Amino acid sequence: AWVFVDGDFVSKEEAKLSVYDHGLLYGDGVFEGIRAYEGKVFRLREHMERLYASAHAILLEVPYSLEDFEEIVLETLRRNELATGYIRIVVTRGRGDLGLDPRSCPRASVVVIAEPLALFPKELYEKGIRLFTVAVRRPRQDILPPQVKSLNYLNNVYAKVQARRAGYDEALLLNTEGYVTEGSGENIFVVKDGALLTPPPWVGILKGITRAAVLELAKERGIPAREEVLTLTDVYTADEVFLTGTAAEIVPVVEVDGRTIGAGKPGPITGELLEAFRALTRTEGVP
Ligand code: PLP
Repeated sequence: AWVFVDGDFVSKEEAKLSVYDHGLLYGDGVFEGIRAYEGKVFRLREHMERLYASAHAILLEVPYSLEDFEEIVLETLRRNELATGYIRIVVTRGRGDLGLDPRSCPRASVVVIAEPLALFPKELYEKGIRLFTVAVRRPRQDILPPQVKSLNYLNNVYAKVQARRAGYDEALLLNTEGYVTEGSGENIFVVKDGALLTPPPWVGILKGITRAAVLELAKERGIPAREEVLTLTDVYTADEVFLTGTAAEIVPVVEVDGRTIGAGKPGPITGELLEAFRALTRTEGVP
């Protein structure tokens, strides 16, 4: 595999950043995850715009124009001869001194990795996954709101660890007021009485690009869809639940905290949206 590191393509084994990189020392940086399906990159522009917005929010200057960076992403796929795969972009503050001050870092570090990736084992996409509500909370507003996709993912990592240790597949995080936010790296949807509901961004979530695509697909198909503040009880008593994310794609949920959701198997609206999403990712996109 070939990895783009600061302007060069190097082998996976040689792909390294300095131990003085502030991405490592302080989690000072931002990232993106993007997918390509059968040679087409899904919503590349939206992902790049979110990357630049996250960087802008933390006063980090990306050392390429958005257009040049898109070309780097496409070139990373070509070099790896990947038509279908996952792309990870990392932009850090770069190499500097041991102090926190970003002024010691003259230039951002840029890494682009492209690999095949399945977030959950294949059978779970058919059977559905089990969620566990973790003690870790998603702050509605910290210094950085969850809409900034920064390298500070320790809360999310720890949420995933708690869920896995409890014997579940994925974490469900509440905000500090106790309302449902999202998974460790996925947005959540519930279906109730034929309507599709998902928490509004202000409760404290990343504004998922897959989430936006699913909302559009629902509207096109005449499925009523809206943003609504959700409690855990809303999730427990939903007819269907699923998660969305670039890495996870659309994954059905059949159990939450020991409660069976609906019939205990992926529901019909989830199935319909999954099929529509699959079709969309194969037709739309940057070749
Ligand atoms: N929520 C979090 C915390 C994430 O890290 C991600 C992944 O990017 C998502 C949700 C899903 O967003 P998207 O569909 O844009 O990948």
